Amino acid sequence: MIDSPLLERTEGFIGGRWTAGDSGKRFSVLNPATGEELAQCPVMGAEETTAAIEAGKKALRLTPPFSIDQRRQWLEGVRDALKAEKREIGRILCLEHGKPLKEAEGEVDYAASFFDYCARYVDQLAPHTIPEKPKDCEWTVHYQPIGVVGLITPWNFPIGMIAKKLSAALAAGCPSVIKPAEDTPLTMIAAFQAISRHADLPDGMINLVMGPPKPIGDVLCEHPDVPMLSFTGSTGVGQHLIRATADRVKKLSLELGGNAPFIVFDDADVDSAVEQLIANKFRGGGQTCVCTNRLYVQAGIAGEFADKLAARVSALRVGDGMDEGTDIGPLINQAGFDKVRRHVSDALAKGGTLLAGTHPDELPESGSLFYPPTLVTGVMPDMACCHEETFGPLIPMATFETEEAVLQAANDTDFGLASYLFTADKARAERMISALRFGHVGWNTGTGPTPEAPFGGFKLSGIGREGGVEGLFEFVEPQTVPRGS
Ligand code: NAP
Repeated sequence: MIDSPLLERTEGFIGGRWTAGDSGKRFSVLNPATGEELAQCPVMGAEETTAAIEAGKKALRLTPPFSIDQRRQWLEGVRDALKAEKREIGRILCLEHGKPLKEAEGEVDYAASFFDYCARYVDQLAPHTIPEKPKDCEWTVHYQPIGVVGLITPWNFPIGMIAKKLSAALAAGCPSVIKPAEDTPLTMIAAFQAISRHADLPDGMINLVMGPPKPIGDVLCEHPDVPMLSFTGSTGVGQHLIRATADRVKKLSLELGGNAPFIVFDDADVDSAVEQLIANKFRGGGQTCVCTNRLYVQAGIAGEFADKLAARVSALRVGDGMDEGTDIGPLINQAGFDKVRRHVSDALAKGGTLLAGTHPDELPESGSLFYPPTLVTGVMPDMACCHEETFGPLIPMATFETEEAVLQAANDTDFGLASYLFTADKARAERMISALRFGHVGWNTGTGPTPEAPFGGFKLSGIGREGGVEGLFEFVEPQTVPRGS
C-alpha cells in the first residue's frame, strides 16, 4: 500500500470536506509495474455526484461575480500548491500510472503551467465595451461563468488533463465536479490535498467524486444545473456524452482520440526527425493522444531512417518508472497490453517486418504489462494500426513516393488531432499544413500542446480548445448588454 502525506484520506471531496460517500464499497488502485495494490478508493455514484453539484451551486457567485483579482489569486494558489508538492504528486503519479518518475514530475510542472498561464491572462475575461454609432448604443460584453461544470479526465495524464480544464474553469469563476479515471484517482486526490493545504478556494468550488463512470456520468449529463461538461478520453465515450446531453443542449468541450501521422520527406534532417519521433512516440509509453500512430517516410531515405530508428528503439530501457534510467514504463492495464499485441500480430500477419521488438507469440499471455518498444516496417493501410489508435509503444512504418500520396494517406482517418511533418522545403510545408486536416501540425518538431496555444481536434477528435486565449473562453457565456442613451 502506498504511504504518502498527501494520501492520508483516499476519499472524495465535496463542499470542502473529505468524504467516502455512502456505498461502503471500495475499489482497488494498482501499480501497473508490480501489480501491487496501492490503495482503495470509495465507490461513489449518483448520490455523491448530486451532492457535489449542490455544493458547486452554493459556491457559484453571480451577483456580484467573483472578481478577476480573486480568480487570479485562486489560479496562483493552485499553481503554487502543485509546485510545492511536485515531488510527492509526481511520485504518486509514477506509482499509479507507471510512467518514469522524471516524466511524472514533468507532468506536474506542465499542470502548474496551465494555472500560471490562466493567472497571467485572466483579465481577458473582463467586460469590454463596443460603440454602435448608427443607433447611438454602447454595447458591453460580459463573460459570465457558465455555471457548475463537470470535468471528466482519462488516466494517461492524471494531473495534466485536469489542469487544462480546471485552470480555465477557475478563471471563468465556475465551480466544478471532477471525475478522474478509476485507474489513476490517487494523483487527483493528492492534488486536492495539496490545493486545500496551499490555496484558498471557497468550499464547493472544486469537488471530487470517483468510482464506476456510468452513475456519475449519467448525473452530470442529466442534471439541469450542470450546463457544461468538459471531457478528455476516447471518441466512443465522447459520442455517448453528445447523445446523453442532447435533450438538455449542454455545452461540450471534447478532447478525444487521435491517429497521428508522422511524415518525413527525403529533404528532412534524418537524425533530428528520428530523435523527435522517439521523444514524441514513447512519452507515457506511447499512451498519449498526440503520439505518432503511423510513420510515413519518403522512399529515398526509408532504409537509412529505418536502420537509425531501429537502433534507437532497441536501446530504450523498459522498466519500473521508479527505477533510475527507465525510459518506458508498463502499459496501464491488460486491455491496453492486449491491444498493442493485437496490432503488432495483425501487422506481421499482413506482411509487415519486425525490425525492433519482440514477436507477439513470445510475449507472456498475462502477468506483465511491460510491452517491448516495437518497430514494424512494410505497413499497409489495411492493417489495424493504421486506422485504430494503438496507444502503446509500436511504430508502424510505411514508405511513400509523392506529396499527394502521403497527404491522401495521412488524411485517410476519421481523426484529426495531431500530425507531424518533417521537410526543409518551406513551400511544401505550407502546402501540406493547409491540407492536413489536424488541429496540430508539428513542422520539424514532435512537440505537443502548451498552455500558450489552443489545442484540440478536427473531425472525430473533438470539439473546443484547451490552452491559449481560446481555451480561456471555454467556460464562459458571452452576454451582450446594449445600452441606449
Ligand atoms: P475513456 O475510456 O473514454 O475514459 C475517459 C474518462 O471517461 C474516464 O474517467 C472514464 O472513467 C470516463 N468514462 C467512461 N465511460 C463514461 C461514461 N459513460 N460517462 C462518463 N464518463 C465516462 O478513455 P481512456 O481510455 O481513459 O483514455 C484514452 C483516450 O483518451 C484515448 O483515445 C486518447 O486519445 C484520449 N485522449 C485525448 C486527449 C486529447 O487531448 N484529445 C488527451 C488524452 C487522452 P473510468 O476510467 O473510470 O472508466
